[in-house]
Amino acid sequence: MFPTLDTSEIARLQRFGESRAFADGAFLTRTGEVGVGMLIIISGCVIVARRDNAADQAPIVVHTAGGFVGELAQLSGRPALADAQAKGPVQALTLAPQALRNVLVEEADLGEQIMRALILRRVMLIQKGIGGPVIVGHVANGNVLRIEGFLASNGHPYRRLDPDTDLEARAIIERFGLTDAELPIVLCPNGEVLRNPSRVSLARCIGMSRSIDAARIYDVAIIGAGPAGLAAAVYAGSEGLAAIALDCQSFGGQAGASARIENYLGFPAGVSGQELMTRANSQAQKFGIEMAIPHEAVQLQPGEPGQPLVIQLANDESVMARAVVIATGARYRRLALANLAPFEGISVHYWASPLEGRLCHGAEVVLVGAGNSAGQAAVYLATQAVKVWLLARGSSLRASMSSYLAERITAQPNIEVLLQTQVNALEGQDGVLEAVTWRDRAGLETRKPARHLFVYIGAEPNTDWLAASGLALDDDGFVRTEGACSAGQWAFQTSLPGVFAIGDVRSGSTKRLSAAVGEGAQVIATIHRYFAQSALRTANAR
Ligand SMILES: Cc1cc2nc3c(=O)[nH]c(=O)nc-3n(C[C@H](O)[C@H](O)[C@H](O)COP(=O)(O)OP(=O)(O)OC[C@H]3O[C@@H](n4cnc5c(N)ncnc54)[C@H](O)[C@@H]3O)c2cc1C
Repeated sequence: MFPTLDTSEIARLQRFGESRAFADGAFLTRTGEVGVGMLIIISGCVIVARRDNAADQAPIVVHTAGGFVGELAQLSGRPALADAQAKGPVQALTLAPQALRNVLVEEADLGEQIMRALILRRVMLIQKGIGGPVIVGHVANGNVLRIEGFLASNGHPYRRLDPDTDLEARAIIERFGLTDAELPIVLCPNGEVLRNPSRVSLARCIGMSRSIDAARIYDVAIIGAGPAGLAAAVYAGSEGLAAIALDCQSFGGQAGASARIENYLGFPAGVSGQELMTRANSQAQKFGIEMAIPHEAVQLQPGEPGQPLVIQLANDESVMARAVVIATGARYRRLALANLAPFEGISVHYWASPLEGRLCHGAEVVLVGAGNSAGQAAVYLATQAVKVWLLARGSSLRASMSSYLAERITAQPNIEVLLQTQVNALEGQDGVLEAVTWRDRAGLETRKPARHLFVYIGAEPNTDWLAASGLALDDDGFVRTEGACSAGQWAFQTSLPGVFAIGDVRSGSTKRLSAAVGEGAQVIATIHRYFAQSALRTANAR
């Protein structure tokens, strides 16, 4: 995590940066502030430390010559997550974000060493909750869960202080004169205090999201940073296209919510979706892709011939691009129960990440669904809950689930599968579920006390935002890209010139991770050919 570069390695990096002197006590980076970039210590000593009220105030690391200050934030010019202060005079080589990315690409072996260290450092900061915001609120509060989920899925460190168990939380509540009903609050590293913030205002406060340059025309705008969008971003960046990738929630999409993916090529022991997608996100940033999260696309305006396409965003900003890749995937389907909404996010969940898992310790939980995502969630929850009731509408799990998962579920003693059974009532108050009632094929009703219900009953395409664009969709709302629709010229082309669709959002696509990733790679090759052809057409027309 903290390698030391030798003098010949530092000499190789000199051409990328600038040497700078820091006096004793000067800050090389300050928590919550955007600094100069990564710093390689040429001489002197630098102490890297956390700046919050956490009990553990020991320095994170002390760097001497050959050490370097930085972690993933420096790759994309985001605010620093720790303080770095000179102890005595320090001479350092500064690498601005673009220079650092150049190092990673042009100096492959050194780049690998540095990239690995940056990733490991971020993992350590996440594990120790260093440098991010502090959430003050009760562990089972739906808004605490929402804020934690947003930060965790975006790979951002945070700490949670629960007033039920934490003296520090109680002291903060007293200091601000808050009542229980006013929780959660979030203390940002820049000193701002937010009350139950939306993900957009939280992201702004911690420097995760920035304004988009409305005058810039990107080569490609990728809408959705799930596996399809991230793959397109990596290939666009590595092949020299100026690209921006937007997502309204987090990178990783549905795959980021998968507890364990076992059928992705090259991972015989399986891999958590979050880990795989975090790597992909870092890879996209290494190739200079602008990751704009959370930014929601609300409209696509087809351009006049020769003019850029314009994407309108929910916050009134806009993005211009020569080509657009739609990779907005799919969203969970909801149960048709009149009183469902108040329970969502508190007791009814569509993901089973460790955040939800910890709420189920020692409890019985109900899970609805029979696909692979339901199977994975059931297997994971069985490690946390005392019992998982798995309710499926069909007469066999094997009809809809991979056989390895169906077998694992059968072998799991604390998962009980109830086939041809559907949930027909929820009971509880203020979003806190108390009981679930289900009905079997014979009409027999069972009422089971339960605090948490997990729902995995398929997905619908995220295409509402395309309604005004005139883009051709199929009867189920997925984006059409077949030859008849796109004149058969370009793979993944939609009915609008310069607009392509990939992954789960595409009509007829295989709803699998590998397929989404493959389409992300392929679409960039197609866009290169599309640009070449358009240039030829423009040149011929002159
Ligand atoms: C729990 C679970 C487990 C799974 N396990 C497996 C598995 O083991 N193996 C396998 O092969 N497949 C698995 N899948 C399926 C796989 O994850 C999907 O096929 C894959 O994620 C599709 O990728 P995508 O990029 O096309 O779409 P998505 O993953 O759906 O990503 C779309 C992204 O677009 C964003 N978005 C949507 N609308 C907008 C908008 N208007 N503006 C900006 N952003 C927007 C979303 O926030 C999301 O991040 C699983 C799915 C789930 C839910």
